[in-house]
Amino acid sequence: MSEKTIFEQIVAGEIPSYTIYEDEQTYAFLDANPLAPGHTLVIPKEPYERLNDMPPELIGTVFSVAGEVASAVEAAVDAPATTLAINNGEEAGQEVPHVHLHVIPQFEDDDSRPIHTLFRGADLSDEEMEEIAARIRNNQ
Ligand code: AMP
Repeated sequence: MSEKTIFEQIVAGEIPSYTIYEDEQTYAFLDANPLAPGHTLVIPKEPYERLNDMPPELIGTVFSVAGEVASAVEAAVDAPATTLAINNGEEAGQEVPHVHLHVIPQFEDDDSRPIHTLFRGADLSDEEMEEIAARIRNNQ
């Protein structure tokens, strides 16, 4: 029998959490190491490791909950915006192998960076863009 993920243990009440929301398929709770006050994680209760592993309907359900949670977080901590992010795989920085969507409040006066500044960037020609787009289309 495989071991439960830490987030399954949270869902089961075996590890305490600051619960924000729960329904049959999803669970939301405060991140224990918040990047900002109100930083919340939204997860499917089923321990899918990556977003790509999840059935499309469940992805829709998690994002639907995340939208509601984002509004509630913004209202609760008076934040004008939130960054929503998934580290999808170990090389992307995923530490917990159970899908989780970060909802992170952003404030006007903080020095947090937009998520695209985390990447080096890629300088691609039109031909390279078209070739990559075609390769992605062909892999769908
Ligand atoms: P990631 O790097 O995207 O896998 O993020 C994992 C997140 O889970 C980190 O932000 C951690 O702070 C958070 N985390 C780990 N353990 C707990 C826990 N027991 N309760 C709440 N958040 C946790």
